[in-house]
Amino acid sequence: MYQITLATSNKHKVDEINLIAKDFDIEFVLPDGDFNPVEDSDNFIGNAYCKAKSAALNAKTKLTLADDSGLCVEALDNAPGIYSARYAPTPKERIEKLLFNMKGKENRKAKFVCAMVVVNNKGEILYKIEQTCDGSIMYEPKGEGGFGYDPIFYVQSENKGMAELTSLEKSKVSHRAKALNCVLNWLKDNK
Ligand code: IMP
Repeated sequence: MYQITLATSNKHKVDEINLIAKDFDIEFVLPDGDFNPVEDSDNFIGNAYCKAKSAALNAKTKLTLADDSGLCVEALDNAPGIYSARYAPTPKERIEKLLFNMKGKENRKAKFVCAMVVVNNKGEILYKIEQTCDGSIMYEPKGEGGFGYDPIFYVQSENKGMAELTSLEKSKVSHRAKALNCVLNWLKDNK
């Protein structure tokens, strides 16, 4: 298996990504030690690059992949966006805050966005991509799967809530899956 460092401390994310990558004979591994990068960009690609650069400098692998993702809600001027992880202290409170802010809004359109950046050991960008998963915000949480905002996100293409999808179903339609497939195709010729 060809190993690539994944610039995250979120084990759930590594599992989701490895489920998609296994057919390509690539395994993503967590960075060694604590990983607390400063994300100070105002966009997804910029923040993915902050994470990638920070992990790449100590990485044992030749390549490092970082992603930055979030939920953009049309009626809230694309909030929480890059602040999705920091919208409220806990996942439950983040969902409650979002549903509260959506009270009375007719336009429920939303999209998950995922940016991915591949860098070398010097922190130079070799590849970058941004993909989305389109849907809408439901009126109440539904389903047990996934993480984060999944319980209130209705996936247009599947006619189901994101948290109602199995891991395998999510791995075919999610913003992260789409971005990762672009990365994996690029890696075929460039690793
Ligand atoms: P980051 O990409 O690790 O910075 O995460 C951003 C935040 O966006 C996460 O903490 C979640 O709240 C949210 N998010 C990103 N991807 C997903 C997803 O697939 N499902 C649900 N929430 C997500």
